[in-house]
Amino acid sequence: MMSWVPPNLTSLCSSNSVISTCQPSTIMFLTLVANLFGHSKDDSYPNYDTEKEYDFVIVGAGSAGCVLANRLSEVQWKILLLEAGMEEPNVGSVPAFVPMLIGSNIDWMYQTYPQPYACLSRAGKACLVPRGKVMGGSSTINFMIYVRGNQRDYDEWAEAGNDGWSYEEVLPYFLKSELEPRDSGSESTLP
Ligand SMILES: Cc1cc2nc3c(=O)[nH]c(=O)nc-3n(C[C@H](O)[C@H](O)[C@H](O)COP(=O)(O)OP(=O)(O)OC[C@H]3O[C@@H](n4cnc5c(N)ncnc54)[C@H](O)[C@@H]3O)c2cc1C
Repeated sequence: MMSWVPPNLTSLCSSNSVISTCQPSTIMFLTLVANLFGHSKDDSYPNYDTEKEYDFVIVGAGSAGCVLANRLSEVQWKILLLEAGMEEPNVGSVPAFVPMLIGSNIDWMYQTYPQPYACLSRAGKACLVPRGKVMGGSSTINFMIYVRGNQRDYDEWAEAGNDGWSYEEVLPYFLKSELEPRDSGSESTLP
């Protein structure tokens, strides 16, 4: 069982970081958060059976992988969902904690090559590119802001020859993902 480990406090409490000052109280707060919410409620689920054969193997349990696994499981397929990171720690449920999730042990901690015109305040002029390495992927370390996207983008994709991608056609799928069957009062009839 792994636990969430906050970012290195030396780098977190620097002028390059999202948290520019680290009072002793901040450090105590972070230690408390890690101890109280660093574990995952998903660790309490029993281990899953491992089969020898699967109908689908999905690599990466991020936003796309989890949705794909969920949709495929609506049919009686055998699905293996592989994830490089640990279970989602409880701290990932709080959007305001994102600055503390970036650079922690559930972030791949990618950086760009040194940039001549960007990220100049950062050591080595390399921009941070946070990406979740954890169940839920980047959606576990994101701000949970939900937007459907611009209607015109979808309509342009459809006009460019992508059948089924007009806004009118994708809207029912947005609604399906936004409403649980219990909210809408009936099972979705969408494929
Ligand atoms: C800090 C931050 C804030 C954001 N805020 C928002 C927001 O508020 N609203 C919003 O809509 N979007 C936001 N985003 C963007 C959004 O989270 C991503 O676009 C989305 O999660 C990407 O989904 P994905 O499935 O493409 O990739 P990911 O969710 O990143 O999933 C990829 C998964 O694959 C796993 N993986 C990679 N390689 C392997 C391997 N070899 N073996 C096994 N597993 C592997 C990774 O660990 C990861 O779990 C934010 C992103 C970040 C980083």
